Amino acid sequence: MNDVIIIGGGPAGAAMGCYLSMAGIRNTIIEKANHPRPHVGESMVTSSTRIFEEIGFLKTMEETGFVKKYGATWHAPANRGKFSIEFAEFPQPGIHQDYTYHVDRGKFDHQLLKHAESMGSTVMQGVVAKRILFDGDQAVGVRVGLGDQEVDMFAKVIVDASGRGMLVGRQMRMIEKDPVFNQYAVHAWFTDLDKGDDHTRDHIHIYFLTVERGWVWQIPITEEITSVGVVVDKSVFSEFHENIEAYFNAQLQTNSNLAHTMRNAKRINEFKSEGDYSYSMRNFVGNGYLLVGDAARFVDPIFSSGVSIALYSAKYASECIVAAFEKNEFGTAVFQPYEDRLRQGAGVWYEFIRLYYKLLPLFTRFIANPEYRLQVLQLLQGEVFDRSEVPVLDAMRNYIETVEKSSSHIFRPQLADIPLE
Ligand SMILES: Cc1cc2nc3c(=O)[nH]c(=O)nc-3n(C[C@H](O)[C@H](O)[C@H](O)COP(=O)(O)OP(=O)(O)OC[C@H]3O[C@@H](n4cnc5c(N)ncnc54)[C@H](O)[C@@H]3O)c2cc1C
Repeated sequence: MNDVIIIGGGPAGAAMGCYLSMAGIRNTIIEKANHPRPHVGESMVTSSTRIFEEIGFLKTMEETGFVKKYGATWHAPANRGKFSIEFAEFPQPGIHQDYTYHVDRGKFDHQLLKHAESMGSTVMQGVVAKRILFDGDQAVGVRVGLGDQEVDMFAKVIVDASGRGMLVGRQMRMIEKDPVFNQYAVHAWFTDLDKGDDHTRDHIHIYFLTVERGWVWQIPITEEITSVGVVVDKSVFSEFHENIEAYFNAQLQTNSNLAHTMRNAKRINEFKSEGDYSYSMRNFVGNGYLLVGDAARFVDPIFSSGVSIALYSAKYASECIVAAFEKNEFGTAVFQPYEDRLRQGAGVWYEFIRLYYKLLPLFTRFIANPEYRLQVLQLLQGEVFDRSEVPVLDAMRNYIETVEKSSSHIFRPQLADIPLE
Protein backbone atom coordinates (compact mmCIF):
# COMPACT_ATOMS: atom_id res chain seq x y z
CA MET A 1 0.00 0.00 0.00
CA ASN A 2 1.12 3.57 -0.73
CA ASP A 3 1.63 5.94 2.15
CA VAL A 4 0.28 8.84 0.10
CA ILE A 5 -1.55 9.13 -3.24
CA ILE A 6 -1.23 12.49 -4.98
CA ILE A 7 -3.83 13.33 -7.62
CA GLY A 8 -2.29 15.60 -10.28
CA GLY A 9 1.27 16.07 -11.50
CA GLY A 10 1.35 19.87 -11.90
CA PRO A 11 3.69 22.03 -9.76
CA ALA A 12 1.74 21.37 -6.53
CA GLY A 13 1.60 17.58 -6.99
CA ALA A 14 5.19 17.22 -8.20
CA ALA A 15 6.60 19.41 -5.40
CA MET A 16 4.53 17.42 -2.89
CA GLY A 17 6.07 14.21 -4.25
CA CYS A 18 9.58 15.65 -3.79
CA TYR A 19 8.99 16.77 -0.20
CA LEU A 20 7.43 13.43 0.79
CA SER A 21 10.21 11.40 -0.80
CA MET A 22 12.77 13.58 1.01
CA ALA A 23 11.00 12.62 4.26
CA GLY A 24 11.04 8.92 3.34
CA ILE A 25 7.28 8.72 2.72
CA ARG A 26 6.28 6.47 -0.20
CA ASN A 27 4.08 8.31 -2.66
CA THR A 28 2.41 7.84 -6.02
CA ILE A 29 1.45 10.69 -8.35
CA ILE A 30 -1.53 10.05 -10.63
CA GLU A 31 -1.61 12.39 -13.63
CA LYS A 32 -4.36 12.26 -16.23
CA ALA A 33 -2.31 13.88 -19.03
CA ASN A 34 0.84 12.64 -20.66
CA HIS A 35 3.46 15.31 -20.05
CA PRO A 36 4.54 17.56 -21.65
CA ARG A 37 1.10 19.14 -21.90
CA PRO A 38 0.32 22.85 -22.41
CA HIS A 39 -0.74 24.97 -19.41
CA VAL A 40 -1.42 28.60 -18.63
CA GLY A 41 0.59 30.35 -15.89
CA GLU A 42 3.98 31.10 -17.36
CA SER A 43 5.56 33.83 -15.25
CA MET A 44 6.93 33.18 -11.77
CA VAL A 45 7.68 35.19 -8.64
CA THR A 46 11.06 34.96 -6.92
CA SER A 47 9.84 33.16 -3.79
CA SER A 48 9.54 29.99 -5.93
CA THR A 49 13.35 29.82 -6.09
CA ARG A 50 13.51 28.92 -2.39
CA ILE A 51 11.40 25.81 -3.06
CA PHE A 52 13.42 24.86 -6.16
CA GLU A 53 16.56 25.02 -4.05
CA GLU A 54 15.04 22.96 -1.21
CA ILE A 55 13.91 20.16 -3.51
CA GLY A 56 17.14 20.19 -5.54
CA PHE A 57 15.51 21.45 -8.73
CA LEU A 58 17.25 24.80 -9.18
CA LYS A 59 20.09 23.28 -11.24
CA THR A 60 17.55 21.91 -13.74
CA MET A 61 15.85 25.33 -13.95
CA GLU A 62 19.20 26.88 -14.80
CA GLU A 63 20.26 24.18 -17.26
CA THR A 64 16.93 24.20 -19.12
CA GLY A 65 17.57 27.81 -20.07
CA PHE A 66 14.21 29.36 -19.19
CA VAL A 67 14.03 33.12 -19.74
CA LYS A 68 15.31 34.96 -16.67
CA LYS A 69 12.84 37.40 -15.17
CA TYR A 70 14.47 40.32 -13.35
CA GLY A 71 11.42 42.47 -12.80
CA ALA A 72 8.03 43.71 -13.87
CA THR A 73 6.77 46.72 -15.84
CA TRP A 74 3.35 48.35 -15.93
CA HIS A 75 1.83 50.54 -18.64
CA ALA A 76 -1.05 52.99 -18.26
CA PRO A 77 -3.73 53.00 -21.01
CA ALA A 78 -2.78 56.33 -22.56
CA ASN A 79 0.82 56.69 -23.69
CA ARG A 80 2.12 57.99 -20.39
CA GLY A 81 5.23 55.86 -20.30
CA LYS A 82 5.79 52.91 -18.02
CA PHE A 83 7.14 52.16 -14.57
CA SER A 84 9.13 49.15 -13.39
CA ILE A 85 10.43 47.30 -10.39
CA GLU A 86 13.55 45.13 -10.22
CA PHE A 87 13.76 42.17 -7.84
CA ALA A 88 17.37 43.07 -6.98
CA GLU A 89 16.05 45.99 -4.91
CA PHE A 90 14.71 43.66 -2.21
CA PRO A 91 17.00 40.72 -1.42
CA GLN A 92 15.03 37.80 0.05
CA PRO A 93 16.35 35.56 2.82
CA GLY A 94 17.38 32.15 1.50
CA ILE A 95 17.31 33.26 -2.15
CA HIS A 96 20.66 33.78 -3.81
CA GLN A 97 19.68 35.17 -7.19
CA ASP A 98 17.96 38.39 -8.18
CA TYR A 99 15.77 36.87 -10.89
CA THR A 100 13.11 34.26 -11.32
CA TYR A 101 11.86 32.67 -14.57
CA HIS A 102 9.30 32.80 -17.34
CA VAL A 103 8.54 29.27 -18.46
CA ASP A 104 6.92 27.19 -21.14
CA ARG A 105 4.68 25.36 -18.67
CA GLY A 106 4.63 22.22 -20.79
CA LYS A 107 8.39 21.97 -20.42
CA PHE A 108 8.57 23.19 -16.80
CA ASP A 109 5.84 20.88 -15.47
CA HIS A 110 7.35 17.94 -17.33
CA GLN A 111 10.82 18.59 -15.85
CA LEU A 112 9.42 18.97 -12.35
CA LEU A 113 7.40 15.77 -12.62
CA LYS A 114 10.48 13.89 -13.86
CA HIS A 115 12.40 15.37 -10.94
CA ALA A 116 9.76 14.08 -8.50
CA GLU A 117 10.17 10.63 -10.07
CA SER A 118 13.95 10.83 -9.71
CA MET A 119 13.50 11.71 -6.03
CA GLY A 120 11.40 8.59 -5.40
CA SER A 121 7.76 9.24 -6.41
CA THR A 122 6.01 6.58 -8.47
CA VAL A 123 4.48 8.50 -11.39
CA MET A 124 1.51 7.17 -13.36
CA GLN A 125 0.66 9.28 -16.40
CA GLY A 126 -2.44 8.99 -18.58
CA VAL A 127 -4.37 7.79 -15.52
CA VAL A 128 -7.48 9.67 -14.39
CA ALA A 129 -8.55 9.86 -10.75
CA LYS A 130 -12.33 9.48 -10.74
CA ARG A 131 -13.12 10.05 -7.07
CA ILE A 132 -11.64 9.65 -3.64
CA LEU A 133 -12.89 6.74 -1.57
CA PHE A 134 -14.06 6.97 2.03
CA ASP A 135 -14.50 4.56 4.90
CA GLY A 136 -17.06 6.51 6.95
CA ASP A 137 -15.64 10.01 6.88
CA GLN A 138 -12.01 8.88 6.55
CA ALA A 139 -10.46 9.11 3.06
CA VAL A 140 -8.79 5.79 2.30
CA GLY A 141 -8.10 5.67 -1.43
CA VAL A 142 -8.73 6.78 -4.98
CA ARG A 143 -10.74 5.16 -7.79
CA VAL A 144 -8.77 5.54 -11.02
CA GLY A 145 -9.57 4.93 -14.66
CA LEU A 146 -7.06 2.80 -16.54
CA GLY A 147 -8.25 2.60 -20.14
CA ASP A 148 -11.80 1.25 -19.86
CA GLN A 149 -11.16 -0.30 -16.44
CA GLU A 150 -11.61 1.19 -12.99
CA VAL A 151 -9.21 0.27 -10.21
CA ASP A 152 -9.20 1.23 -6.53
CA MET A 153 -5.89 2.28 -4.97
CA PHE A 154 -5.48 2.72 -1.21
CA ALA A 155 -3.29 4.95 0.97
CA LYS A 156 -3.17 6.50 4.43
CA VAL A 157 -3.32 10.04 2.99
CA ILE A 158 -4.81 11.40 -0.25
CA VAL A 159 -3.59 14.72 -1.64
CA ASP A 160 -5.75 16.50 -4.19
CA ALA A 161 -3.41 18.46 -6.48
CA SER A 162 -5.78 18.30 -9.47
CA GLY A 163 -5.64 22.06 -10.07
CA ARG A 164 -8.72 23.63 -11.60
CA GLY A 165 -10.02 20.08 -12.08
CA MET A 166 -10.91 20.46 -8.34
CA LEU A 167 -11.61 16.76 -7.95
CA VAL A 168 -12.35 16.75 -4.23
CA GLY A 169 -14.04 20.16 -4.26
CA ARG A 170 -16.49 18.93 -6.88
CA GLN A 171 -17.01 15.54 -5.27
CA MET A 172 -17.72 17.11 -1.88
CA ARG A 173 -19.57 20.12 -3.29
CA MET A 174 -17.46 22.63 -1.44
CA ILE A 175 -16.48 25.10 -4.16
CA GLU A 176 -17.14 28.70 -3.14
CA LYS A 177 -17.09 31.00 -6.14
CA ASP A 178 -15.54 34.41 -5.57
CA PRO A 179 -18.24 37.00 -4.87
CA VAL A 180 -16.33 39.85 -6.54
CA PHE A 181 -14.18 38.63 -9.41
CA ASN A 182 -15.62 37.05 -12.52
CA GLN A 183 -12.73 37.56 -14.88
CA TYR A 184 -12.22 35.94 -18.24
CA ALA A 185 -8.85 35.38 -19.94
CA VAL A 186 -8.01 34.78 -23.61
CA HIS A 187 -4.40 34.05 -24.49
CA ALA A 188 -2.05 32.75 -27.20
CA TRP A 189 1.62 32.78 -28.21
CA PHE A 190 2.97 35.35 -30.67
CA THR A 191 6.20 36.20 -32.49
CA ASP A 192 7.43 39.53 -33.88
CA LEU A 193 6.47 41.76 -30.96
CA ASP A 194 8.36 45.04 -30.79
CA LYS A 195 9.63 44.76 -27.23
CA GLY A 196 12.15 47.58 -27.51
CA ASP A 197 15.71 47.02 -26.40
CA ASP A 198 15.96 48.47 -22.89
CA HIS A 199 16.47 46.50 -19.66
CA THR A 200 12.73 45.71 -19.38
CA ARG A 201 12.75 43.46 -22.47
CA ASP A 202 12.55 40.31 -20.40
CA HIS A 203 10.25 41.67 -17.69
CA ILE A 204 6.67 40.63 -17.47
CA HIS A 205 4.72 43.59 -18.89
CA ILE A 206 1.26 44.37 -17.62
CA TYR A 207 -0.84 46.79 -19.67
CA PHE A 208 -3.85 48.43 -18.06
CA LEU A 209 -6.92 48.57 -20.28
CA THR A 210 -9.64 51.20 -20.23
CA VAL A 211 -12.30 48.74 -19.04
CA GLU A 212 -12.53 48.20 -15.29
CA ARG A 213 -10.36 45.31 -14.05
CA GLY A 214 -9.03 44.83 -17.58
CA TRP A 215 -5.36 44.09 -18.24
CA VAL A 216 -3.01 42.29 -20.61
CA TRP A 217 0.05 40.18 -19.84
CA GLN A 218 3.15 39.99 -22.03
CA ILE A 219 5.45 37.14 -20.97
CA PRO A 220 8.57 36.12 -22.92
CA ILE A 221 8.65 32.33 -23.37
CA THR A 222 11.81 32.29 -25.54
CA GLU A 223 13.75 35.03 -27.32
CA GLU A 224 11.27 34.77 -30.22
CA ILE A 225 8.00 33.65 -28.61
CA THR A 226 5.85 35.76 -26.29
CA SER A 227 2.69 34.79 -24.45
CA VAL A 228 0.01 37.48 -24.56
CA GLY A 229 -3.24 37.24 -22.60
CA VAL A 230 -6.20 39.59 -22.23
CA VAL A 231 -8.10 39.53 -18.93
CA VAL A 232 -11.41 41.38 -18.45
CA ASP A 233 -14.65 40.96 -16.58
CA LYS A 234 -16.76 38.29 -18.25
CA SER A 235 -19.49 40.81 -19.10
CA VAL A 236 -17.06 42.70 -21.40
CA PHE A 237 -16.28 39.50 -23.26
CA SER A 238 -19.98 38.72 -23.68
CA GLU A 239 -20.38 41.94 -25.70
CA PHE A 240 -18.35 40.31 -28.45
CA HIS A 241 -20.71 37.35 -28.68
CA GLU A 242 -17.86 34.98 -28.06
CA ASN A 243 -15.88 36.06 -31.12
CA ILE A 244 -12.50 35.56 -29.49
CA GLU A 245 -10.29 37.12 -32.13
CA ALA A 246 -12.39 40.29 -32.44
CA TYR A 247 -12.49 40.63 -28.68
CA PHE A 248 -8.76 40.13 -28.31
CA ASN A 249 -7.83 42.61 -31.05
CA ALA A 250 -10.26 45.23 -29.81
CA GLN A 251 -8.73 45.12 -26.32
CA LEU A 252 -5.18 45.44 -27.68
CA GLN A 253 -6.11 48.78 -29.24
CA THR A 254 -7.18 50.31 -25.92
CA ASN A 255 -3.63 50.68 -24.61
CA SER A 256 -1.39 52.69 -26.92
CA ASN A 257 1.91 51.14 -25.73
CA LEU A 258 0.44 47.69 -26.24
CA ALA A 259 -0.96 48.50 -29.68
CA HIS A 260 2.53 49.68 -30.63
CA THR A 261 4.25 46.55 -29.25
CA MET A 262 1.79 44.24 -31.04
CA ARG A 263 1.51 46.08 -34.35
CA ASN A 264 3.46 43.42 -36.37
CA ALA A 265 2.85 40.44 -34.06
CA LYS A 266 1.95 37.05 -35.54
CA ARG A 267 -0.05 34.49 -33.61
CA ILE A 268 1.53 31.01 -33.71
CA ASN A 269 -0.97 28.86 -31.83
CA GLU A 270 -4.70 28.69 -31.09
CA PHE A 271 -6.38 31.08 -28.67
CA LYS A 272 -7.25 29.47 -25.36
CA SER A 273 -9.64 30.85 -22.80
CA GLU A 274 -10.22 30.48 -19.07
CA GLY A 275 -13.26 31.69 -17.19
CA ASP A 276 -14.69 31.79 -13.65
CA TYR A 277 -11.30 31.42 -12.17
CA SER A 278 -11.42 32.84 -8.66
CA TYR A 279 -12.66 30.47 -5.97
CA SER A 280 -11.91 28.81 -2.67
CA MET A 281 -12.87 25.44 -1.22
CA ARG A 282 -14.80 25.57 2.05
CA ASN A 283 -12.16 23.32 3.63
CA PHE A 284 -8.62 22.52 2.51
CA VAL A 285 -8.25 19.46 4.76
CA GLY A 286 -10.35 16.61 6.14
CA ASN A 287 -9.85 13.19 7.66
CA GLY A 288 -7.13 11.57 5.58
CA TYR A 289 -7.00 14.18 2.83
CA LEU A 290 -5.57 17.59 1.93
CA LEU A 291 -6.08 19.93 -1.04
CA VAL A 292 -3.06 21.81 -2.42
CA GLY A 293 -2.48 24.45 -5.11
CA ASP A 294 -5.38 25.41 -7.36
CA ALA A 295 -7.37 22.42 -6.07
CA ALA A 296 -7.72 24.40 -2.80
CA ARG A 297 -7.80 28.07 -3.72
CA PHE A 298 -7.28 30.26 -6.75
CA VAL A 299 -6.88 34.03 -6.83
CA ASP A 300 -6.74 36.33 -9.86
CA PRO A 301 -3.34 35.92 -11.57
CA ILE A 302 -2.54 39.65 -11.95
CA PHE A 303 0.59 39.25 -9.79
CA SER A 304 1.72 35.82 -11.12
CA SER A 305 1.12 34.20 -7.75
CA GLY A 306 -0.28 30.78 -8.77
CA VAL A 307 2.82 28.60 -9.14
CA SER A 308 4.39 30.05 -6.00
CA ILE A 309 1.23 29.34 -3.99
CA ALA A 310 1.10 25.82 -5.45
CA LEU A 311 4.72 25.15 -4.41
CA TYR A 312 4.37 26.60 -0.90
CA SER A 313 1.09 24.80 -0.32
CA ALA A 314 2.90 21.54 -1.15
CA LYS A 315 5.70 22.40 1.26
CA TYR A 316 3.43 23.32 4.16
CA ALA A 317 1.00 20.45 3.55
CA SER A 318 3.90 17.97 3.38
CA GLU A 319 5.09 19.15 6.82
CA CYS A 320 1.71 18.21 8.29
CA ILE A 321 1.73 14.87 6.45
CA VAL A 322 5.15 14.08 7.92
CA ALA A 323 3.77 14.96 11.39
CA ALA A 324 0.77 12.69 10.74
CA PHE A 325 3.03 9.72 9.98
CA GLU A 326 5.17 10.46 13.03
CA LYS A 327 2.09 10.45 15.28
CA ASN A 328 0.27 7.79 13.27
CA GLU A 329 -2.79 10.08 13.30
CA PHE A 330 -4.55 10.98 10.09
CA GLY A 331 -7.55 13.05 11.22
CA THR A 332 -8.35 16.65 10.27
CA ALA A 333 -6.65 18.10 13.36
CA VAL A 334 -3.14 17.12 12.33
CA PHE A 335 -3.59 18.77 8.91
CA GLN A 336 -5.30 21.94 10.16
CA PRO A 337 -2.09 24.01 10.63
CA TYR A 338 -1.51 23.66 6.89
CA GLU A 339 -4.98 24.99 6.09
CA ASP A 340 -4.48 27.97 8.41
CA ARG A 341 -1.16 28.80 6.82
CA LEU A 342 -2.38 28.57 3.24
CA ARG A 343 -5.45 30.67 4.07
CA GLN A 344 -3.14 33.32 5.45
CA GLY A 345 -0.82 33.35 2.40
CA ALA A 346 -3.57 33.24 -0.23
CA GLY A 347 -5.49 35.77 1.89
CA VAL A 348 -2.63 38.27 1.70
CA TRP A 349 -2.48 37.91 -2.09
CA TYR A 350 -6.23 38.30 -2.29
CA GLU A 351 -6.26 41.43 -0.10
CA PHE A 352 -3.49 42.97 -2.21
CA ILE A 353 -5.35 42.15 -5.45
CA ARG A 354 -8.58 43.59 -4.15
CA LEU A 355 -6.99 46.86 -3.01
CA TYR A 356 -5.19 47.05 -6.33
CA TYR A 357 -8.36 46.74 -8.40
CA LYS A 358 -10.26 49.05 -6.06
CA LEU A 359 -8.01 52.00 -6.87
CA LEU A 360 -5.40 51.46 -9.59
CA PRO A 361 -3.45 54.73 -9.03
CA LEU A 362 -2.86 53.62 -5.45
CA PHE A 363 -0.48 50.90 -6.59
CA THR A 364 1.65 53.35 -8.58
CA ARG A 365 1.61 55.78 -5.68
CA PHE A 366 2.74 53.25 -3.10
CA ILE A 367 5.47 51.87 -5.36
CA ALA A 368 6.81 55.40 -5.76
CA ASN A 369 6.72 56.02 -1.98
CA PRO A 370 10.12 55.25 -0.35
CA GLU A 371 8.36 54.29 2.90
CA TYR A 372 6.31 51.53 1.26
CA ARG A 373 8.18 50.55 -1.90
CA LEU A 374 10.08 47.65 -0.32
CA GLN A 375 6.96 46.19 1.26
CA VAL A 376 5.15 46.30 -2.07
CA LEU A 377 8.16 44.59 -3.64
CA GLN A 378 8.11 41.99 -0.89
CA LEU A 379 4.52 41.20 -1.85
CA LEU A 380 5.30 41.14 -5.56
CA GLN A 381 8.11 38.67 -4.85
CA GLY A 382 5.69 36.32 -3.13
CA GLU A 383 6.61 36.78 0.55
CA VAL A 384 3.01 36.58 1.70
CA PHE A 385 2.79 34.04 4.47
CA ASP A 386 3.10 36.49 7.36
CA ARG A 387 0.47 39.24 7.25
CA SER A 388 2.18 41.17 10.06
CA GLU A 389 5.18 41.76 7.79
CA VAL A 390 3.18 43.78 5.27
CA PRO A 391 1.48 46.68 7.07
CA VAL A 392 1.50 48.44 3.69
CA LEU A 393 -1.85 46.70 3.12
CA ASP A 394 -3.33 48.61 6.09
CA ALA A 395 -1.85 51.85 4.76
CA MET A 396 -3.45 51.16 1.34
CA ARG A 397 -6.78 50.42 2.96
CA ASN A 398 -6.64 53.66 5.00
CA TYR A 399 -5.80 55.62 1.90
CA ILE A 400 -8.81 54.18 0.06
CA GLU A 401 -11.08 55.05 2.98
CA THR A 402 -9.85 58.64 2.84
CA VAL A 403 -10.61 58.81 -0.89
CA GLU A 404 -14.07 57.33 -0.32
CA LYS A 405 -14.91 59.95 2.29
CA SER A 406 -13.78 62.94 0.23
CA SER A 407 -16.01 63.76 -2.75
CA SER A 408 -13.41 66.18 -4.17
CA HIS A 409 -10.41 63.85 -3.98
CA ILE A 410 -8.47 63.70 -7.28
CA PHE A 411 -8.69 59.86 -7.29
CA ARG A 412 -12.38 59.72 -6.38
CA PRO A 413 -13.62 59.09 -9.97
CA GLN A 414 -11.22 56.15 -10.24
CA LEU A 415 -12.62 54.20 -7.28
CA ALA A 416 -13.95 50.86 -8.56
CA ASP A 417 -17.20 49.41 -7.33
CA ILE A 418 -15.55 46.65 -5.26
CA PRO A 419 -16.36 46.07 -1.59
CA LEU A 420 -13.26 45.94 0.61
CA GLU A 421 -14.59 43.22 2.90
C1 LIG B 1 -5.45 33.07 -17.03
C2 LIG B 1 -4.44 32.57 -16.03
C3 LIG B 1 -3.17 33.11 -16.01
C4 LIG B 1 -2.23 32.64 -15.07
N1 LIG B 1 -0.98 33.19 -15.04
C5 LIG B 1 -0.09 32.78 -14.09
C6 LIG B 1 1.24 33.28 -14.07
O1 LIG B 1 1.65 34.09 -14.89
N2 LIG B 1 2.07 32.83 -13.09
C7 LIG B 1 1.67 31.91 -12.16
O2 LIG B 1 2.46 31.56 -11.27
N3 LIG B 1 0.43 31.39 -12.20
C8 LIG B 1 -0.45 31.79 -13.13
N4 LIG B 1 -1.68 31.22 -13.20
C9 LIG B 1 -2.02 30.20 -12.19
C10 LIG B 1 -1.34 28.87 -12.45
O3 LIG B 1 -1.70 28.41 -13.73
C11 LIG B 1 -1.80 27.86 -11.39
O4 LIG B 1 -1.92 28.49 -10.14
C12 LIG B 1 -0.86 26.66 -11.24
O5 LIG B 1 -0.76 25.95 -12.45
C13 LIG B 1 -1.35 25.74 -10.12
O6 LIG B 1 -0.62 24.54 -10.07
P1 LIG B 1 -1.34 23.18 -9.59
O7 LIG B 1 -0.27 22.16 -9.55
O8 LIG B 1 -2.14 23.44 -8.38
O9 LIG B 1 -2.39 22.85 -10.74
P2 LIG B 1 -2.10 22.48 -12.27
O10 LIG B 1 -0.88 23.12 -12.73
O11 LIG B 1 -3.35 22.80 -13.02
O12 LIG B 1 -1.88 20.92 -12.25
C14 LIG B 1 -2.94 20.03 -12.00
C15 LIG B 1 -2.65 18.72 -12.69
O13 LIG B 1 -3.64 17.77 -12.30
C16 LIG B 1 -4.02 17.00 -13.42
N5 LIG B 1 -5.37 16.50 -13.15
C17 LIG B 1 -6.52 17.22 -13.09
N6 LIG B 1 -7.56 16.41 -12.80
C18 LIG B 1 -7.04 15.16 -12.66
C19 LIG B 1 -7.62 13.89 -12.34
N7 LIG B 1 -8.93 13.76 -12.12
N8 LIG B 1 -6.80 12.81 -12.29
C20 LIG B 1 -5.46 12.92 -12.51
N9 LIG B 1 -4.87 14.11 -12.81
C21 LIG B 1 -5.65 15.21 -12.87
C22 LIG B 1 -3.93 17.98 -14.59
O14 LIG B 1 -3.75 17.30 -15.81
C23 LIG B 1 -2.72 18.83 -14.20
O15 LIG B 1 -1.52 18.33 -14.77
C24 LIG B 1 -2.60 31.64 -14.14
C25 LIG B 1 -3.89 31.09 -14.19
C26 LIG B 1 -4.81 31.54 -15.12
C27 LIG B 1 -6.18 30.94 -15.13
